[in-house]
Amino acid sequence: MRNWNLSTKIIASYSVLIAVMAGTIASGMYWQLYYSQRQAIRNRLLAIVSLAVPQIDSDYHGLVLQRSDRTSAFYKINQDKLVSIQATSKDILRIYTVRQQPNKKFVYVLNYDPADRGKTVLIGMDYTKSLDDLYTAVARNAPFVEEEFYNTNGETILYGYAPISNLQGRVNGFLVVELDASSVVRQEIRVAGFALVTFLAVLLLTVVLVRWLSRSLVVLPILQLNSAAKQLETGNWNATLASDVYDGLRLRTDELGELSASFNSMAKQLQTSFATLEQKVEERTLELAEAKEKADSANLAKSEFLANMSHELRTPLNGILGYAQILQNGEPLTERAKKGIDIIYQCGNHLLNLINDVLDLAKIEARKLELYPEDAYFPALLEGVAEMMRVRAGQKGIPFTYQPDSNLPVGITVDEKRLRQVLINLLGNAIKFTDEGEVTFRVQTQELEISIYRIRFEIEDTGVGISPGGLTKIFQPFEQVGDTKKQGEGTGLGLAISQQIVTLMGSTLNVESQVGKGSTFWFEIELPEAKEWATSLRTTKQGRVLGFEGSKLKVLVVDDRWENRSVVVSLLEPLGFEVIAVSNGREGLAMAQEIHPDLIITDLMMPEMDGYEMLRQLRQIPELKHIPAIASSASVFESNQNESITAGANAFLPKPVEAPALLKLLEKYLNLKWVYDQNSIAVEPITANSKAISSSIPDEIVPPTDEVLSQLHTFALQGRLMAIEQQLKTLEKANEKYHSFIQEIRQYADNFQTEKIRTFIEKYLPNVKS
Ligand code: ADP
Repeated sequence: MRNWNLSTKIIASYSVLIAVMAGTIASGMYWQLYYSQRQAIRNRLLAIVSLAVPQIDSDYHGLVLQRSDRTSAFYKINQDKLVSIQATSKDILRIYTVRQQPNKKFVYVLNYDPADRGKTVLIGMDYTKSLDDLYTAVARNAPFVEEEFYNTNGETILYGYAPISNLQGRVNGFLVVELDASSVVRQEIRVAGFALVTFLAVLLLTVVLVRWLSRSLVVLPILQLNSAAKQLETGNWNATLASDVYDGLRLRTDELGELSASFNSMAKQLQTSFATLEQKVEERTLELAEAKEKADSANLAKSEFLANMSHELRTPLNGILGYAQILQNGEPLTERAKKGIDIIYQCGNHLLNLINDVLDLAKIEARKLELYPEDAYFPALLEGVAEMMRVRAGQKGIPFTYQPDSNLPVGITVDEKRLRQVLINLLGNAIKFTDEGEVTFRVQTQELEISIYRIRFEIEDTGVGISPGGLTKIFQPFEQVGDTKKQGEGTGLGLAISQQIVTLMGSTLNVESQVGKGSTFWFEIELPEAKEWATSLRTTKQGRVLGFEGSKLKVLVVDDRWENRSVVVSLLEPLGFEVIAVSNGREGLAMAQEIHPDLIITDLMMPEMDGYEMLRQLRQIPELKHIPAIASSASVFESNQNESITAGANAFLPKPVEAPALLKLLEKYLNLKWVYDQNSIAVEPITANSKAISSSIPDEIVPPTDEVLSQLHTFALQGRLMAIEQQLKTLEKANEKYHSFIQEIRQYADNFQTEKIRTFIEKYLPNVKS
């Protein structure tokens, strides 16, 4: 029933209702007819018996007592009366009289049966029919008709009685008339049949009519409305409104007509509002596009502004810092002047850091900061950071412990520069805010699945700690908490930048700290292993380096850290070098004397004998002094570089070692011709470190005129970095071909390496006197 559709439900319920009504009416009519028919025949019989009894002579009747009396005249008179009574209605089947005996039983007296022509004589025979009725009738002393109809031998009989009094006037007998009631019963059957047929006909008519009405008046319009609503749903506004259905419906004035009118107006309204909406959306989209364009161009302007600003700020800063350095190393100064210059240098440096940090943060905010993951040699990356920190901690006189996991992956793919930036910031803070106790740098690894590692970096210090209130602020830009003296050394941007970088790496930077006890900063990042790290590192602009032309060459590596030794071994051995590695200057010297290598790469800070000392001694040994030597260190201070060159190194290579820089140096000092795999060309990453390579020879440098060269040379001699930059700008505008030349000088200028600028220019100006 629940699944029936609307028209079926209406038809079923209406049909049942009307069927019940029709049934009630039909059966009511039938019963009415039934009773009136029966009553009519009873009344007729009552009239017959009432008229018949006075005709019977009760005196004569009282004299008929036995069979022999049938010959008597009074018997005959009464018998004739019966015949004449019977003649009044052909429906009278039989007519007779009975009399009550002293034993209360009734016996027949007269009897007339037309079928039998009155021959049967029954006088004195027992009358057997329902005596009780007769006893009541005796008491009543009036004619009556029985309620019941009797069925005997296929005939339906109704009995009527009239009392007969005896000679003393007391009722002692009855006249009984049996009337044929078959016609009544037949009539009744006919009526019942008629009622049934009528009922069925009404029912059928009802079903048909209700079905037609419900479908045409209710269901169909609803179905049409439904399909119209569905069309609306699919956005077919016009089709719906043009449909005839609605015109048809609109004519109706009943509830459905009203419904359809409301529906139509709703559809129209929807159509209008949809049209307006579409228009609005279009307008908004246009507005948004415009706004986006504006925002984009504003963003671009902001980025450009920042880039220009930082360049503009950095240029005078270069002058300030450069001159401060020149003065620091120059003529003897008064104590006051020296202090002043130190302060100028420190403030300038602070400002430079601030500018760099602001630029980084601006990049992050403009979502311009992207990660450039590349294959890297992980142990050396970490060791490089640790070494730098060891020096800083050493200066402060606090122990620094680096605890790497024993099963660190060797090669990983990561944005080395950004990872180093975060670690240096966290470790730098830890050292800065610790005066007693120690700083520990832990790196833990867990292999998540094949070639994917989760690496946890943890930096723990026993420093001043951070208050709970401070913890909520430190990751926000320019927030510094606690000791105001130390704050002067920072910018308050480091943690904000680090947090953003770690977020970019898909993790978060966490901290736990207790005031006076110390702090622990940590983060966990997932990094893929780079099995081919050495191969990728050897891939340069010209293609992957496969080896070099000529015979095998020997390279001696001197470094106290296995990570650093191993990175050089891994890079060079596959190219056809024989690499021998030792762990301090003394061993280095001994090995050099033994094997006479073609080139030496040496660390500077080492136990037993450091790199400077080894280089100095090397240059004193006649058979070894011509061997080219490359000093390599994590300390990128110019003073260290200069000292190493003074000690006897041919070139300086910053750590962590970058393969392209190392290859360039080897190419230069061993006169190598590399063999490339042309199919694998890589874009060389440009980093701060690769810029600082002192002795790299760039390709295709076109020098300007001798006049310009000598002018630049003079400026360099005078330390006039601003003037140099001015000159470079003019040159830049003059011709594009000077690009490489300008870049080279600018790199040195950016690092205040006026000495290098001079040496570089002298290459193109052989006659110039230094
Ligand atoms: P800053 O350049 O001042 O170091 P950071 O963003 O790196 O800027 O740090 C913000 C502030 O968080 C610091 O000024 C310092 O108050 C607090 N802080 C950071 N690291 C530590 C630490 N290891 N111990 C105590 N305080 C710290």
